[in-house]
Amino acid sequence: MSKLYLSGNQAIAYGLIHAGVRFITGYPGTPSSEIIPAAQDIVKSSALKAYVDWAINEKVAYEVAYGACLANIKSAVTMKQVGLNVAMDPFMNSAYVGTVAGFVVISVDDPGPHSSQTEQDSRFMAMAAKIPALDPSTVEEAYDFAKKAIELSEKYSIPVMLRSTTRVSHGRAVVEVDDVAPEDIIKPHFKSSKDWAKQLSRFAATPKQRLELHRILNKKIEKIAEQNKPKFFFSGDILILSSGVVFAYLYELIEEYGLHDKVTLSKFDMPYPLSKNIINFKEKFSRVISVEETYPVIELQLDTEGRRNGLVPREGELTPEVCEEILEKIDLIKRTKTFNVLPLKRPSLCPGCAHRIALFAVKKVFGKKTIYAGDIGCYTLALNFNVTDTVLNMGASVSFGFAFSKTFALGQKEQEVVAIIGDSTFFHSGIPPLIDAVHYRVPFLVVILDNKSVAMTGNQKTLSDEFSSSGQPVTPIVIENLVKGIGVNFVHVVDPYDFDLSVRTLKEAKNFLKKKEPAVIVFRHPCINTKEGLSANPKYNVQISKELCKGCRVCTVEFECPAIIFNEDEGKAEIDSAFCIGCGCCIHVCPTKAIALI
Ligand code: SF4
Ligand code: SF4
Repeated sequence: MSKLYLSGNQAIAYGLIHAGVRFITGYPGTPSSEIIPAAQDIVKSSALKAYVDWAINEKVAYEVAYGACLANIKSAVTMKQVGLNVAMDPFMNSAYVGTVAGFVVISVDDPGPHSSQTEQDSRFMAMAAKIPALDPSTVEEAYDFAKKAIELSEKYSIPVMLRSTTRVSHGRAVVEVDDVAPEDIIKPHFKSSKDWAKQLSRFAATPKQRLELHRILNKKIEKIAEQNKPKFFFSGDILILSSGVVFAYLYELIEEYGLHDKVTLSKFDMPYPLSKNIINFKEKFSRVISVEETYPVIELQLDTEGRRNGLVPREGELTPEVCEEILEKIDLIKRTKTFNVLPLKRPSLCPGCAHRIALFAVKKVFGKKTIYAGDIGCYTLALNFNVTDTVLNMGASVSFGFAFSKTFALGQKEQEVVAIIGDSTFFHSGIPPLIDAVHYRVPFLVVILDNKSVAMTGNQKTLSDEFSSSGQPVTPIVIENLVKGIGVNFVHVVDPYDFDLSVRTLKEAKNFLKKKEPAVIVFRHPCINTKEGLSANPKYNVQISKELCKGCRVCTVEFECPAIIFNEDEGKAEIDSAFCIGCGCCIHVCPTKAIALI
C-alpha cells in the first residue's frame, strides 16, 4: 500500500485501474472530467495495456465501454449527470442484458447546481434502470467503491453505477491505494472469437426474450437488496438515513453538537437497491428521516420522512449549513451562528477569447431582432452580451434553429434565426438536427465556434485533432467537410480575428438564407488557454484615448472584455494591462475609434 494525495476523480481512476479495468471511455463534463486524464496518467506511468480515451458523446461512450465488457474486459464509462440522459438508451438496456466482465457506470452529480442545467440525481436514474448505485461519502470511499463496483458487477453480472458528486469528486484527501495491481488483473482477459459463446437470447434478445431478461434482472436486484446492509453510528431515538457526502456532514454535526444519544445515523454505501426487511426501523425509533442529495431515493424505497414532508429542501445542495438547518427543524439543535454567502462575480469569456469577437460580428450583422439559439459551452456566456436567447442542452441550438425558423414560416412571418454551437458540442449532438434542417430545407444560420478544444471542461481534445488525448495518432474529422457532406450549400470557414472578413461572410450568409436552406459558418481560432492558442495569438499594445472615448460602454457591456474597465469617476473606459493579452479585437468595437493599437 502507499499513500497518495488525490482528488475524488483521481481516486476513482486509481480504484478502476486497481480493480483491473482496462477499457475506459467517457465524455467530458464538469464535475467528472478529470477521471479519464487521471486514468491515462496511471496507464502511462505503469506501462499498462489499456484503452482510455474520450468518445464523441455519452451514448457512444457507454455503448463502446459496455461492448468491451461483453467482449470480456473489465470496463468503465464516465460522464456527468446530464450526460447520463444522453446515454439513457444503452443504460436501460444493458441492465436487462447484464455483463460478462465487470462494468462500472460513473455518473457525477452536481447538486447546487454549480455548472449544469439540472441537479438531477443519478441514483434515481439507476433506480429507474434497476442498476445498483454506490454513493461514496469521501475521497477514500471513491477509491474503495470503484473497486467494490467491479466486484459487485462481476458477482451479479450487472452494470453497477458509481455515483459521485461535485464535493467528493473535487475534494482532496490522502488515500491509501494498492501498490501494484496483482499480476492476473494486469493482463486483460480477452477471449478469442472461438471462445465467444453466442447467446442470442441474451445479446440479441427479441421482445419476448426481453421479458425473461427482465425477470432475471428483478431477481438479481432482489438478491443485491437483501444483502445491502446499512452501517449504524451513535445511538439515539431518532434515526437519520443518509448516503454520499451528506452522511459526512451529518456525522460531523452530530459530533459537534453532542447528539450521540439523541440520533442514530445510518449510512448506505449503496442507496439503491434497498429491501424493506433490512432494518426494522419503524418499531425501534420515534422518527425515521432520510437526509440525502438530491432526490428522495432512500426515502421512497423505505417510506420515511424527509423531502416529502418538507424537512429536507426539495432543491439545492445540502451543504453543512443546510444540514444544520434540517437538524434545527427536527428540534435537535438551536443554531447559534448563520452564514452569509458573498455574492459571486458573474463569469465572463476570457480576455482575447475569439468567441467574443465572433459573436460581436454576428450581432453587428444580424442585429437585435434575430433569435439566437445558444448551446452548452463557454459561449453560453454570450448571454451576458445578448447574443443568446435560449440554452437547453447539448445540441439543442440547432434543433431550436430548425424549430424557430419553421414556426415563424408556418405563421408566414419573416424571422431570422441564428444557432450558436461550439465544435465539440456540434460533434456531440449538433449533427443530426443539421441533417434534418438540410433535408427539410429550413433556413437559419448555424455558427460553429471552433476553438479546437473542449474548453469549458478543461481543454480536452476534439475530434478535429491529429492526436487523441492519450497521444495516439488519429484521423482528424474536418467539420466543413462533414457539413458539406450532409448537403449544406453555404459553408465558410473564417478566423474571427479577421473582423472585416467575418462581417462580409455573415452578410453573405444572411443573403443566402433567402434561398430557404441552412447556412453554416465555422469561426475557427484556437482557445487562448491552450499552448497552440497562446503562441498563435498576436501581442498588440492597445490603448483607449481619453479624448475620443465618449463613455458609451459598448466595450464593457456589449463586448464585455474583462480587460476593459469603466472608470466611473472619469466616465471613460480604460484597459487593465494586468488582464489584457493584446489580441487587438477591441479596436473593431468602439464606435468613436477611441480604442487603437499603439
Ligand atoms: S466603446 Fe469606445 S467610446 Fe464607448 S466606452 Fe468603450 S472606449 Fe469609450
Ligand atoms: S486587446 Fe482588447 S479585446 Fe484583447 S484582451 Fe486586451 S482589452 Fe481585451
